Amino acid sequence: MSDIIHLLPDSVANQIAAGEVIQRPASAVKELLENAIDAGSDTITLVIKDAGKALIQVIDNGSGMSETDARLSFERHATSKISCADDLFNLNTKGFRGEALASIAAIAQVELKTKKEGLDLGSKILIEGSEVKEQEPCSAPKGTSFSIKNLFFNVPARRNFLKSNPIEIKHIIDEFQRVALAHPNIAFSMYNAENEVFNLKKGSFRQRIVGVFGEKYNQKLVPVAESTDIVTIDGFVSKPEFAKKTRGEQYFFVNDRFIKNAYLNHAVQNAYDQLLSKDQFPSYFINLKIDPSKIDINIHPTKTEIKFEDERSIYAIIRTSVKQALGKYNISPTLDFEQ
Ligand code: ADP
Ligand code: MG
Repeated sequence: MSDIIHLLPDSVANQIAAGEVIQRPASAVKELLENAIDAGSDTITLVIKDAGKALIQVIDNGSGMSETDARLSFERHATSKISCADDLFNLNTKGFRGEALASIAAIAQVELKTKKEGLDLGSKILIEGSEVKEQEPCSAPKGTSFSIKNLFFNVPARRNFLKSNPIEIKHIIDEFQRVALAHPNIAFSMYNAENEVFNLKKGSFRQRIVGVFGEKYNQKLVPVAESTDIVTIDGFVSKPEFAKKTRGEQYFFVNDRFIKNAYLNHAVQNAYDQLLSKDQFPSYFINLKIDPSKIDINIHPTKTEIKFEDERSIYAIIRTSVKQALGKYNISPTLDFEQ
């Protein structure tokens, strides 16, 4: 009998990878926003139509790509962000897997327009189901625009599985808010069905929180700050009297990346101790800066879970610094905590 094993065509391999990386429109939003940040942009716009099912567009004013890079960006494992295995232990970019664009292009119709600074012309590429339909020079502003149309057009099971528009929009807004909170030094705007949803100017972390969640947050926040060899912490926790009955706005960022971590969440909750009852939850916005060689981001394709080398110490440091912050506030609640 003849041999039966063969390598899958790229388009099929990409579609399989897409199943992991791109679960819904919000996943594509996250990947595109992160790419725009890695490109050094300081202004990023997100445009959504039909809850991302018809259109997801991200426009940035970052580095742009050369004609060759524009084409290569859609290949699987094609990345400008790492070049050897050692780089995995010193990551300073959001991306590094070189998978997102290949995955998105396998399951959508994608239009890329990009131009590098100083060039007269940029490049335009149309790609659909991993197949390049068109590539030509075009005029464009400096930076990059990705338009993702008809996500999952060739994966009916996934497309049918998408939730109602309000639910998909909620997921998109969650991702947008996480990215925008992690980067107060970048201006972000978002439009949904032609309406402006967010228009966030560059500013401080406090200003960004207020921009995202509303003016009422200005009086809710107590600053937290701590610096040790293991971790540097800065951010805000909510005053106990503003606790919520459901998990409120609870955000950890590690090196400017939103992460989920039930153990560290417990450290914050625990710091409120007697100040809250069991069914009350604080809001918090906490940035952790940790030596990239002491964390592992590469444990899940979406990178919202990471491993810490020294999770117990980080727990203790978070708990102590939140306790301290609340203690200061308790002693002088009228103190002006504006920062
Ligand atoms: P990764 O981000 O893991 O490198 P992606 O598939 O998301 O992989 O992107 C592939 C490459 O395309 C990136 O490494 C980068 O060089 C380039 N790229 C993607 N988006 C942009 C952008 N908005 N501006 C400039 N370059 C980009
Ligand atoms: Mg990427």
